[in-house]
Formats: sequence, C-alpha cells, structure tokens
Amino acid sequence: MASPARLTVDLNALARNFHALAAAAGAPVHPVVKADSYGLGAAACARRLAAEGAQTFFVARAAEGAALRAALGAEPTIYVLDGCVAGTERALIASNLRPVLNHGGQLAAWRAAGGGACGLQVDTGMNRLGFRPEDAPAPFDGLALVLSHLACADDPAEPMNRRQRDAFAAVAQRYPGAVRSFANSGGCFLGSDYAFDAVRPGVCLYGGGPEGRPDPRIGAVATLSADILQVRDVPVGETVGYSRGFQAETPHRIATCATGYADGVLRSYSGRGAGLVWVAGELRPILGRVSMDVCAVDVSGLDVAIGDTVELFGANRMLDDAAAAAGTIAYELLTSVTARVPRVYVG
Ligand SMILES: *Cc1c(COP(=O)(O)O)cnc(C)c1O
Repeated sequence: MASPARLTVDLNALARNFHALAAAAGAPVHPVVKADSYGLGAAACARRLAAEGAQTFFVARAAEGAALRAALGAEPTIYVLDGCVAGTERALIASNLRPVLNHGGQLAAWRAAGGGACGLQVDTGMNRLGFRPEDAPAPFDGLALVLSHLACADDPAEPMNRRQRDAFAAVAQRYPGAVRSFANSGGCFLGSDYAFDAVRPGVCLYGGGPEGRPDPRIGAVATLSADILQVRDVPVGETVGYSRGFQAETPHRIATCATGYADGVLRSYSGRGAGLVWVAGELRPILGRVSMDVCAVDVSGLDVAIGDTVELFGANRMLDDAAAAAGTIAYELLTSVTARVPRVYVG
C-alpha cells in the first residue's frame, strides 16, 4: 500500500559520497552504519557500500551487528563500537563480530569468553569511551584495529583536533600490526595526516555536511516527502492547528500535509517560521504546530492540489538546513524518522 509519507534513499548518491570521502581522505572508508545507517536502513545501505568496495563496517550495538551480519553474509568485517558489553560475548562470537574494547573489564571479558579478533578504542580527549592513553593495554593477540574519535571534527579551526591527532599517533605506535582508524566524517576533510589507515565516516555518507551545514562535496541521499491531504483557504483572523499556533493576518491558503511528529517531523519546527518545506518549486513555512500525523504549510499563491508532494528535506531542502531550523543536527533529524515511514530505495 502506498504511504502518504516516505523516506526515499538514493543509493547512487550514497555510493558517490562513499567514493568522495575515500578520495578526500586518501584512505579506505570503513562505513559507520550504526542506528540502522542513521535511519536510512543498514541492510540496503551496507549492501550497496559493500558492492562499492567497503570491506569493514562499524555498528554501535551487538544486535545491530548480528542483523548486519545476516544482511551482508560472512565476508565483511564488522566492528561493534560499544565493545564487549557483559552478556553479549556469545552473540558477538556467534555472528563473528569484533568488539571495540573500551576498558580493562571488556578486555578481560572478551579474553574469558575466548573471543578472537577485536579492536581497541583509545580516548584522546573526548572523555566518552575508550582507554586513556596511559592506561592502554600492552599489545595482545587478536588486536586488529585501534581507533580514537574526534570531539570537534566539524570545526577545522578547533585546536583540539590537532592535539587529539598527535595523541592518537603516539599511542597507535604501540600497536604496530593494527589498522589505525581516527577520522569520522569531518576528519576526512582535515588533511591527509588525519586519515591514518582507514576512515570511519557516518553522516557524510548519508548526506550531512562535514561541518554541520550543506557542503558541495557531499550530495543529498535521503528525501523525506509527504503528500498533500487537503488544501484550504484560511480567512483573516482565523487560526491554524492546535493551540491556535498560527493566526492569519491576511488571507492564507494552506496545504495540510501527511507528515507529523510521529513520522519524525520534529515538533520543534512549530512556530519558528524557519521550518521550511519545498512545495511547488518554492520553500514555504510550516504554519502553527506540527501535529502527530500532519502539518500545515503556507501555499498562498501557489498552484497546488491534493496528492501533490512536499519535501521536508532532500535535494531541495538540505538536511543540515532543515535540522538547524528544528534546533538540532542532521544526525538527530535522520535518526528521528520513525518506523511508520517506509524507506524507498532508488538507484
Ligand atoms: C558515530 C561514530 C562515527 C561516525 O561519525 P560521523 O560524525 O557520523 O562521521 C565514527 N566513529 C565513532 C566512534 C562513532 O561513534
């Protein structure tokens, strides 16, 4: 059954971003496909990325890794960023997943479980996950990859990037046989000395800019679109939606569109005026409150009809701009698109 709202994923655009990132970094791309490929669908995205040459993938959770293993088959290498969380050892081994070990307890548990190849995360300043450099373990059998994560890669002028990079280079020397992975999306554009042996982009694969704004080096991949359910004229003085969120001071024509916060159109668009939607070749504001299943768009003066489509984000309303208008970032906007919205793959 056709859905009145859908997330269209352009796999050719995904492939172009994959190759653009590899070229920018000058290193192989190990795609990050956690959180269901940032909401786009990890099975379809990872299969295409594997067909483009990706051989190693990152997820966050063991369960994500098991699902990805089922989708990709035995060949690719899959790392789990959460590491060896107590109780997941057997699931990791059963699906041939490699935990990225973050602390001594995880290392001990992985050894006790008889686990094989794994990664190691060193925290070079973010204070999130991983061993502090001074606590990093001696090299050990099975250690295949060492990584660290940038805290400020979306800001090339941030001096912390260089400090983290130098700290990582120093600690990685301790593990001569291991693949060194440092750069996320933003890091792919910080210079060749940030690339090391393999890069780990996520959001740029899926169409987010490396600096949190639209970027000519990255193409749109995901389009959230919805059909117009009804078009109506609102006379002067009347209001639109819950709590009279918008009042017409001039006659308005509005389109009620089949997408709301239960689809991932964040309620924080409400009343900001910056929540713009692409309709009939123009960017027009969302009026009043976003409700659960619908939102109202100002189509005054436009030639629109029931069944026409509006775009919440995509090639005409860039993801980063839409996220900023909602008071958030591309990552959160993408991962907010709910299961009710079918993912439609093209390319
Ligand atoms: C999520 C994540 C990435 C990918 O980050 P992007 O900013 O989306 O490129 C890379 N490495 C780690 C450790 C992560 O948690």
